[in-house]
Amino acid sequence: MTLEEYQKQSTDGLYRAIARLKAARDAVFLVHNYQALEVQKIADHIGDSLALAQAAARTAARLIVFCGVHFMAESAKVLNPGKKVIMPDPAAGCPMADMVTAGQLIAAKKAYGDPVVVAYVNTSAAVKAESDVCCTSSNAVRIVSSIPPDRKILFVPDRNLGSYAARMSGRELILWPGHCYVHDRFTVGDAETARDEHPGARLVVHPECPPEVAALADDVASTSGMVQLVRNRPKQDEWIIGTEMGLVEQLSAAYPNKAIHPLSRRAVCNNMKLTTLAKVAWALEHEANEVTVPDEIAARAKRALDRMLELS
Ligand code: SF4
Repeated sequence: MTLEEYQKQSTDGLYRAIARLKAARDAVFLVHNYQALEVQKIADHIGDSLALAQAAARTAARLIVFCGVHFMAESAKVLNPGKKVIMPDPAAGCPMADMVTAGQLIAAKKAYGDPVVVAYVNTSAAVKAESDVCCTSSNAVRIVSSIPPDRKILFVPDRNLGSYAARMSGRELILWPGHCYVHDRFTVGDAETARDEHPGARLVVHPECPPEVAALADDVASTSGMVQLVRNRPKQDEWIIGTEMGLVEQLSAAYPNKAIHPLSRRAVCNNMKLTTLAKVAWALEHEANEVTVPDEIAARAKRALDRMLELS
């Protein structure tokens, strides 16, 4: 079928088609927390970048369908090169990941006198290949803390996550001037308004938020960390969630008896929302939009990812 034909199908029809194709193609669905809720419902594994990287490394399925953004699909390919990895929409990139290129990083390493490079997983495979170790928002503090104290550290590309890791680890980091347009938009005004409107709520924000917003939060956590926080505090029935709307929708669906408020309804990652059920069905039928990584880059990127997984 064509994509246009899938786009005319009902949601139930798409779920049925996807289930049939999934079995026929021996596929596994790795789905990021920021995907639209109807896409989250097809997940075999749902989570943040770390959880999905771990699932990609372990899966026995022949075909990985990555519902997220391009750097995540690249990481899945690097960690499990024997599998075919496809994306429902190849245009789903991450603007933050595009804020550092391998060429810029090579020049910066030279300029800073060969520092240890910690690369947030939100980077291309080519950037990971020039890095010493990767990190995610779940483990950035642990990874930074593991680096010998006499070494200089260059953290790419998210300055907000880097500054959070620096504060929590007590290490001085050279910060790359990158940011996530979704999280960097949260303001002190958003936090103050949300607190005023929901005085009994606990405010949790993602470390990609600006430091002045993180300073006002009760907790700073990755998306998986937020899921755990809500699960582990059963008596806390009101939350303000400072991350992308996909996670707010996931938590609202999982906890219908709790009040889950977004810190801001503007927090939508348009790149994540490019994935639709129709595109999943079409890409799966045709095994389209394969993600590949040149062998030489993949081998070096894998070293940085493996180091992270060992430390996680
Ligand atoms: S939410 Fe931010 S970091 Fe995540 S994919 Fe979108 S732009 Fe990139």
